[in-house]
Amino acid sequence: MKKINVTQPSLPSLEDFIPYLETIWENRWLTNNGPFHQQFEVELAKYLGVKYVSLFSNGTLALIASLQVLKIKGEVITTPYTFVATPHSLYWNNIKPVFCDINPNDCNIDVNKIESLITPETTAILPVHVYGAPCDTKKIDEIARTYGLKVIYDSAHAFGVKENGDSILNYGDLSVLSFHATKIFNTFEGGAIVCHDKEMKKRIDYIKNFGFEDEITVVAPGINAKMNEFQSALGILQLKNIDNLISSCKEKSIYYIENLKKTKGIRLLKESEDVNYNYSYFPIFVENNYPITRDNLYQKLKDNNIYARRYFYPLVTKFSPYRSLVNSTSIKNALQISEQVICLPMYPDLEKEHQNQIIEIINGTA
Ligand SMILES: *Cc1c(COP(=O)(O)O)cnc(C)c1O
Repeated sequence: MKKINVTQPSLPSLEDFIPYLETIWENRWLTNNGPFHQQFEVELAKYLGVKYVSLFSNGTLALIASLQVLKIKGEVITTPYTFVATPHSLYWNNIKPVFCDINPNDCNIDVNKIESLITPETTAILPVHVYGAPCDTKKIDEIARTYGLKVIYDSAHAFGVKENGDSILNYGDLSVLSFHATKIFNTFEGGAIVCHDKEMKKRIDYIKNFGFEDEITVVAPGINAKMNEFQSALGILQLKNIDNLISSCKEKSIYYIENLKKTKGIRLLKESEDVNYNYSYFPIFVENNYPITRDNLYQKLKDNNIYARRYFYPLVTKFSPYRSLVNSTSIKNALQISEQVICLPMYPDLEKEHQNQIIEIINGTA
């Protein structure tokens, strides 16, 4: 029986990729802002509806670099309901993560709880657009302005997401994307920082290339986080098909909603009419009135070869580097949601037959 994973990476046909490889072999320009890298940065910025994109070898290095670029220090307010790379990027910069609870309605940072966590050491806010649902960017911007804080959005889930027609990557000082194999848009591995002015882009580009300003000048203790030509070429090709992938996921999302919205004990996230989502995750929340526990349902799916994932469980605050930094009452929504969530399989090639099987298992149990 076929194993159904929570996601399955999309790729162009190998045939379509080969001409790009031939060009790379002819050019012998493999990395360091090569022609495909330059082309991809321009096309990506245009597609996303943002001013500037700086490509990175992966999202985690882009997060780490974004904190370096803005010279963030001290304490940063972030969410415990995220992938572990978010607090790790702070740890790698010797910054103390301060974990703020989430709003259970959208799983994003609870903007009403941010201000009480601000101390004289606070320098920035690092929210995550969880499952690609936009954070309350207006309120976060307002808080940041009032207290003189920087804002970096971990937008790893939010590729292509728009609110009222505008890219959500246009909010905050910087937004960080991931093009990891598991994301809706992949370049095998990859990432980017989105910024809004030319000077900032320059600084980001120095940081990702050892701090080199030119051949003989190093202006900062940079790192090597450059995207190579192979990844960039794939990105150019993937971009041609991303709209199809998103609309295919949208169809699947609608089908899940139609079939699960009335299921007792299963809560789904509400969608806003103002948002164009990318539909790359389909979380369900198993509540107390569902007949079996979340973990039993998770196991039952597994027994049927359906490998859903509990994103995000355990919370990052359960891991040893962060355990001592938080008390559980201050993040009780995040804890509760992490005990309820299952992300169902969601990817463009997910077959109807398998989706029906997943729905039957969930509804058959109810
Ligand atoms: C995937 C992901 C990252 C890390 O990106 P990589 O490209 O895998 O390094 C960071 N934050 C979140 C929320 C993610 O989902």
